[in-house]
Amino acid sequence: MTFEQFHLIPQILEALSQEGYVTPTPIQEKAIPIVLAGRDLLGCAQTGTGKTAAFSIPIIQNLQAKPRTPGRRPIKALVLTPTRELAIQIDQSFESYGHLTHLRHAVIFGGVSQQPQTNALNQGIDVLVATPGRLLDLISQKLVDLRQLDYFVLDEADRMLDMGFIHDIKRILPLLPKQRQTLFFSATMPPEIAELADSILQNPEKVAITPPSSTVDMIDQSLYFVEKNDKKPLLIELLKNKDITSALVFSRTKHGADKIARFLVQAGISADAIHGEKSQNARQRALNNFKDHKIKVLVATDIAARGIDIDELSHVFNNDLPEVPETYVHRIGRTGRAGNNGTAISFCSSDEMQQLKDIQKLIGKQIPVIENHNYVSDLATIAQYQAKAKVAEKEKAKKKWTGNKGNGDYWRRQKRQN
Ligand code: AMP
Repeated sequence: MTFEQFHLIPQILEALSQEGYVTPTPIQEKAIPIVLAGRDLLGCAQTGTGKTAAFSIPIIQNLQAKPRTPGRRPIKALVLTPTRELAIQIDQSFESYGHLTHLRHAVIFGGVSQQPQTNALNQGIDVLVATPGRLLDLISQKLVDLRQLDYFVLDEADRMLDMGFIHDIKRILPLLPKQRQTLFFSATMPPEIAELADSILQNPEKVAITPPSSTVDMIDQSLYFVEKNDKKPLLIELLKNKDITSALVFSRTKHGADKIARFLVQAGISADAIHGEKSQNARQRALNNFKDHKIKVLVATDIAARGIDIDELSHVFNNDLPEVPETYVHRIGRTGRAGNNGTAISFCSSDEMQQLKDIQKLIGKQIPVIENHNYVSDLATIAQYQAKAKVAEKEKAKKKWTGNKGNGDYWRRQKRQN
């Protein structure tokens, strides 16, 4: 499959070739024809699958084909997304794929002065990328008018729900024309999200891409059993490895993220932290320094990291295991993007065994345990025994059929240990 097969206009094909894209990703293969044909779409896909291009390319193509009315341009497409980082990235995608067309786009998000954003809006734009709060704010100031909208994209709907944006969305929806094309994306489909999708989509085509377990297969995963106090020294030891060029470290809390970053810097490893309590400028600076390889490590909380899209991220570290198992998949999905291999290293302390169990259940496999390291906790011994017991059990079952009772030593040793 090639992009030419979608009959895209030369300006888009040329832009894609400049980006180095050769073949569409599975979500693009399925979604682009649906959107080009004017249908509503319900896409179950997470970041990293190429979903931004899947909706922006056909929107650019359809908008470019429409005759322009004289006078100030009305906003024709709105993309609503939960975080500033995602908003910036989506806006950049419209620039990347649409810079050879006549379309104009702008991005608005909170936490920064509205003046540069309203200046951009006043010039007249075709595509607006927005976070919900700032959008409502500018609508109430009559600086944004959505009455002539043709395309509405709701991106990362599940994260919108998590972040408490559902009421904002419900306030925005009545302000959109009923006659429009709607594209709805979510990584997961809990009942509330399915209900919301149902209420805003008309006879949608459904596309589901990369269930979590197959995404994680691409990624080399490993697990270190280590107690809380030893996590930082172990992290430093592992990060000193020269093969690691760029690593994203996840921390459950904002406070923890700051502490880890400070600790790494003290140990001579260039690092910074991003989380919701940092100013937008500080977050963007940290992210740019990380993308430009000026710092080796970025420490992030889940929400702050959601929009991070870095092409050459080699390693993800889970300093803490997440409470929600799907979050593990989202986290490690920051690496191994667009078909690249990646490495995900997780730490598990004795109070995180339940989270580990839930994660392994979700991904349908045991994460390989690194048994020999300098900070091994007692848990490692337990895990080692559990693994050995499993193997032994298999051996026993096998030998039962081959008539050899064997392996008595192992079980006698086990009995003595107990
Ligand atoms: P997304 O899921 O939209 O966040 O995209 C994930 C990453 O894949 C981004 O870095 C895109 O630049 C990249 N990407 C999207 N589509 C393609 C493609 N067809 N070929 C190669 N890379 C792509």
